[in-house]
This record gives sequence, structure tokens and C-alpha cells, in this order.
Amino acid sequence: MDFSYADVRAAKISLPPTPMWSYPVLNAAVGATVHVKHENVQPIGAFKIRGALNLLATSPGRGIVTYSTGNHAQAMAYASHQYDTPCTVVMPQAASPTKIAAVRAWGATVVLAGANLGESEAHAVELAASTGHRLVSPGDTPELLAGVGTLYDEILTARPNLSAIVVPVGSGTGAAAASVVAAELAPTCEIIGVQSASSPAAHDSWRSASLVTRPNQTRVEGLATGRGYELPQQIMCKLMSDFVLVPDDRIVEAQRMLASAAHTLAEGAGAAALAAVLEFPERFAGREIAVVCSGGNASPAELALIASQAN
Ligand SMILES: *Cc1c(COP(=O)(O)O)cnc(C)c1O
Repeated sequence: MDFSYADVRAAKISLPPTPMWSYPVLNAAVGATVHVKHENVQPIGAFKIRGALNLLATSPGRGIVTYSTGNHAQAMAYASHQYDTPCTVVMPQAASPTKIAAVRAWGATVVLAGANLGESEAHAVELAASTGHRLVSPGDTPELLAGVGTLYDEILTARPNLSAIVVPVGSGTGAAAASVVAAELAPTCEIIGVQSASSPAAHDSWRSASLVTRPNQTRVEGLATGRGYELPQQIMCKLMSDFVLVPDDRIVEAQRMLASAAHTLAEGAGAAALAAVLEFPERFAGREIAVVCSGGNASPAELALIASQAN
């Protein structure tokens, strides 16, 4: 396995630790002591900044090519800007103008190519080959896992006695890193991954211990992936305690609860961990756990959904 706790300890991320708070109203509503780890307050509004900063620290100056529709794109753009390194992000032709603008605002070049992320990836591969820039996979890149692992190092250093950490999963970098850190610092702490039932590729890959593709229909962007990624799956397969699925509507309910009980704006992926607690209350009753609020970049459509009464 190409990744260990030592890599997390060696990660260079130059960011202050994010807060982790517990909210009595939230605890009463879910029947457990829940610590919310606030990655939504990062400069780009999501934990992915950690992986990107560590990657750029290890290869500054060398141009980067990557592909993404969301927070990975912003994270790579931000970190490349910090390290004065050229960065090109390939996004699907139909990517949202808000996201394109956010990536360009950090000085990255956006190339619109492909009808979906798979086609954007193929274009990024060609671009990297022709420019000699480094192709960065959002899932299969050890430097990203190492940087992201610092999040779990912060959680378990602050609260070594947690009985579980619930982690939202897309490609699996976060859950894989969490599993490695917990194995080292808190072997009895369960790491529980959560994905949307409408995009179960990572979940089904984990259950079958193979890399599978699945329909990718969730409206929750950070959890939307159509395939399993090899490096995180290898690690999760060996070390992660459990993996659950939640419906998209439960995620909206959790977003509303974070807004009302924790004065927190979470994007769908940022509320997925709490959604798992709401979906399986008996499993978490009376326990002391952490949920990772992985990001706060809610789209205008998500904001409208949070504010509306209907799902
Ligand atoms: C990317 C992302 C996830 C999923 O993380 P992976 O490491 O890809 O599994 C969860 N939440 C947010 C906000 C994200 O941006």
C-alpha cells in the first residue's frame, strides 16, 4: 500500500486547524453527542484544500493538469496559486458558470471539454501528455490522501475517545485517510463511510472488494462519482469499519438541521455524515461521535431546496 500514517504526519498544509464544535440542540435532536468538524470554513469552503496544498508542496513549479466539476478544481487552483504553479482544470462543457468563475478567480486555466467527467478526464490525459505537466487524479494520488489525513489527525488528537467518525465519500480519499489515521491513533474508533444511494459506486466497490461502475444520479455533487478509485478502495477495503447509503432527501433534512441547530451552511456532501446519523438513529444512540462537515459550497439550487418545505 502506497500510503501510511507517516505520510499524514509529514504533510505540509500550512493551514490553521478547523474548529470542531458540539451543539446541544443538535445532540438532543439526534440522541447522541455529535462533534461537527467544520471544513466548510476553509478558504475554498471544503476539506480538499488540504490534499491540494500538500501535493503542490511536494512538486511546486511543475505544471498541473486535472479534471473535476467541483471542489477538487477549486482546491487545485487555490494551491497552484499559492505555489505559483500553472494549473489547468478540464471541466465538462456543461459545468456551472459559478464554478468555472471560482476556479478562474484563483488564476487557473479552465478548459471545457467533454459531455461528462469521464470525457473531461480523457482530454486531461491528452493535455498532460502534450504539455509534460503532471496529471493529477482526484482519487488515486497519495499526496492528496496525505494532506486530507491531517483533518482526521486533528479530530483524533482533539478527541481520542470518539467511538465513530462518519465520513462522506465520493472518490474515497477522505475515508481512506481517516481509516489510516484511526488505525494508528484510535483503533477502536469506527470509520463509517457514507454515500448517496443514487450514486453508490464507491459503496458497491467497497462491498464487493472490486472496482465497479454504477449509475451516478445523486444531486449531491461531492458524492457524485460513477466508479471506484483504486488507491482509496484498497485502503478502505483493508481498514474501514462500515459503509452506508442515504437517500438524497435525508441529506437535505441534514442540511436544514445543520442550518437551524448548528448555524452552519453545508453543501449536500457536507451534510451527508449527519444524514447517516439521522438514517440509522439506533446505531448511534448515546454514542460520542464526529461528523465531518466536508464543505459549504451550496449551489443556488441547493439553497432553494434547503429553504423550501418540500423535498
Ligand atoms: C470531494 C468531496 C467529498 C468526497 O470526498 P472524497 O475524498 O472524494 O471521497 C465530500 N464532501 C465534499 C464537500 C467534497 O468536496
